[in-house]
Amino acid sequence: HMSSIEPPQCTLGSCKHCSWQKPLLLFFFLQGNQQPFYVASLDCVLKAYLRWTTNLPRVQPFYAVKCNNTPAVLWLLSALGSGFDCASKGEIDLALSLGVTPDKIIYAHPTKPSYHIRYACSQGVDTMTFDNEEELLKISSFHAHAKLVLRIAVDDSKSELKLSPKFGVPLSSAGKLLERAAQLGLQVTGVSFHVGSRCTESSAFKQAIADSRHVFDIAMSLLDIGGGFSGTDDSVSFDEVKVINEALDELFPPDSGVRIIAEPGRYCVESAFTLAVNVIAKRAGNRRMEYYINDGVYGSLNCILNFPENMKIEPHLHRVNTTEHSHEPRLKSLLWGPTCDCVDKVLDSVWIPELRVGDWLLLDNSGAYTSSLCSDFNGFERALTFPVMTNPRPRNRSQTAPVELGPPGLVTNTPAAGLR
Ligand code: PLP
Repeated sequence: HMSSIEPPQCTLGSCKHCSWQKPLLLFFFLQGNQQPFYVASLDCVLKAYLRWTTNLPRVQPFYAVKCNNTPAVLWLLSALGSGFDCASKGEIDLALSLGVTPDKIIYAHPTKPSYHIRYACSQGVDTMTFDNEEELLKISSFHAHAKLVLRIAVDDSKSELKLSPKFGVPLSSAGKLLERAAQLGLQVTGVSFHVGSRCTESSAFKQAIADSRHVFDIAMSLLDIGGGFSGTDDSVSFDEVKVINEALDELFPPDSGVRIIAEPGRYCVESAFTLAVNVIAKRAGNRRMEYYINDGVYGSLNCILNFPENMKIEPHLHRVNTTEHSHEPRLKSLLWGPTCDCVDKVLDSVWIPELRVGDWLLLDNSGAYTSSLCSDFNGFERALTFPVMTNPRPRNRSQTAPVELGPPGLVTNTPAAGLR
C-alpha cells in the first residue's frame, strides 16, 4: 500500500543518516571486534524508492542488483514492487531466492554465457538485452522465445563511468541487427540504453530517449532508460526528472502503450550505506601521518580505482562516548588499505585529527559498487553489513513494537539483539 506509507525521517545522530552507528560501534568496541562493517539504512532506500515513484510515475524501476546485492535491500525493494536488473545466473538466482517472480527480472547484460541464458530460460526469465549478432545466435539456440531488448550505444560523455565503449549497437547498425533477429524468428520487444554511471547532465537522457525513438519499431512495446541516476545529492539526482518526463511524454506518450522501465543502481543505495573502518596501524611519514585501515581498494573501496579524481571520500573520526577530538588540530594524512600492495591506497591527502590505532572512521555514501566488488585478496575479511530500519509502524517513535515482517538480517529498533 504505497500511498499509505509516509517516508520516515531519519533521526540524525553523529552520522549523516541515522543514529544506528553509535550503538553498533559501541557493540563492536565492547566485543573488541575490528572487522569493517556497513550500517545500511533501509529508511533511506525506502525514501529513494518513494521519491522515484512520485517523480517518475511512468518509469518502473528495475533495481540493478550489481550495484549492491545486500539481501535486505533486495527484500525491501521487492516488497515495494520494484523489478530487478540481473547481470548473470548468480544474480538471477539471488533475486529468485528472495521470492522475486521471473516477470520482475530483466536479464540486462548484452553478452551472456550460453549456460546463463539456458538457466534464465529454465527459470522463466524471458526479458533480456542484446547488442550483437552472435548473441542472437546463442539466444535462438538456448531461449528461442525470449523477449529481446535491443541495447543501443548512446552518448556517455556526460558520465563519469562510461559504458558505451563496451556495450550497445551503434544507431547506424541497429536496423541490420533487427533484421537479423527477424530472420532468426526472434521477438524484439523493445530498446534499452545506459547513459553511463554518475551522469551529470540530464540532456544525455533526452538525447538517448530520442535515439531510442529513432530505432523503435512499430512492433515494440518496451523502453528501458537504464541507470546513471546520481545517488548522493537530492537536487542533482533528480535534475533529470523534468527532462526525462518531457522527453517521454513527447516521444513515447502514455497513449502509445509503450511500457517504460529503468535500471537504477547507485540512485537506490549509495547514500543509504555508511562504512565503518578501523585504524590498524600508523606511522609518521614524510610531512604527513600515514594510517593503515582495515578496508581498501581490494575490499569495499574498489570504486576508488574508477574515480581517482572525483571520488570524494570524507572520513569522519568516531570515538565512542566522546567528541573531544573535534577540537584537536587536523594533520595532513594518508590512508592506506590493509593489503601488501601500494595500489591499495584509499586517500592520498586528507586533513584529520591524529588517529590512534583502534579508532573508527565512518565513510558516508558507501552503498554503490562497494560491497559487491569485494575480493578476498590477502585474506582480509569482507565488511559485514547491518541493515537497520526505524519501525514504520507504529508512527510514534517512543513505542517499541517489533517489526512484524523483516528482511534477512534486519536490525530493528533493538540493535544489539539483531546482530548475528
Ligand atoms: N544497468 C546496466 C546494464 C549497468 O551496466 C549498470 C551499471 O553498470 C546499471 C544498470 C546501473 O547503473 P547506475 O548504478 O549508474 O544506476
